[in-house]
Amino acid sequence: MLKIENLHARVEGKDILKGLNLTVNPGEVHAIMGPNGAGKSTLGNVLSGRDGYEVTEGSVIFEGRDLLALEPEERAAAGVFLALQYPVEIPGVNNTYFLRAALNAQRKARGEAELDSMQFLKLVREKLKVMQISDELLHRAVNEGFSGGEKKRNEIFQMAVLEPKLAILDETDSGLDIDALKQVAQGVNAQRSPERAFLMITHYQRLLDYIEPDFVHVLADGRIVESGDKSLALKLEQQGYAWVKEEPAVAG
Ligand code: ADP
Ligand code: MG
Ligand code: MG
Repeated sequence: MLKIENLHARVEGKDILKGLNLTVNPGEVHAIMGPNGAGKSTLGNVLSGRDGYEVTEGSVIFEGRDLLALEPEERAAAGVFLALQYPVEIPGVNNTYFLRAALNAQRKARGEAELDSMQFLKLVREKLKVMQISDELLHRAVNEGFSGGEKKRNEIFQMAVLEPKLAILDETDSGLDIDALKQVAQGVNAQRSPERAFLMITHYQRLLDYIEPDFVHVLADGRIVESGDKSLALKLEQQGYAWVKEEPAVAG
């Protein structure tokens, strides 16, 4: 599904990703861990095509297509999800209005019929039920006063509605209480399927107590320096990141 080879990327003239390799197959959950500033969020942003991230070397193939050649909207329509980011609070503008616009833009790009408001509402109700999310979130204005936990719940809800093939979740672990964490995990677990893959970007191990990853990778200084199964996350929890950085980089 996803093959990243020798990816180098730069932000504001600074080299951040320095030869990253990663292969993800359908149905797999990959956890990307690593110290602060390693380039984890940069990886997510590069994959989703966010402005300001310049790829200087390497390739990313997604379902046989050159992902880096696609515009951000085309990547989303192809099934790559990174939480929709709202730059500002928009008082009085309904949260779901934006989600419907995003979904219909993607459907249109895929040559599928757009959903009218009744069809969309039906979809939303189904997803809220599966995700065990209260509909209170829907009626809120975009980003207005969302807590950290509510932003995460909203992100999971967006993912459920957009039904991506590859979901990239960049965890802002801080600010999530245990209930929010469990809810995020429940939402992800409900969305796991043989066709869908996840990149779970996280600084801490605790999310992985609730979402069992198939693979755990350590990203340090712009590269995957260690890969393993979930036991690697436990080792990191106990021993920190210092030991990985001392070992030579291996292809991951
Ligand atoms: P991580 O998510 O692993 O903590 P990031 O990918 O956010 O790391 O950041 C990696 C490095 O790139 C950091 O040194 C950070 O300061 C820098 N960086 C990331 N995004 C930007 C940006 N938009 N402008 C300037 N520097 C950035
Ligand atoms: Mg960081
Ligand atoms: Mg980050």
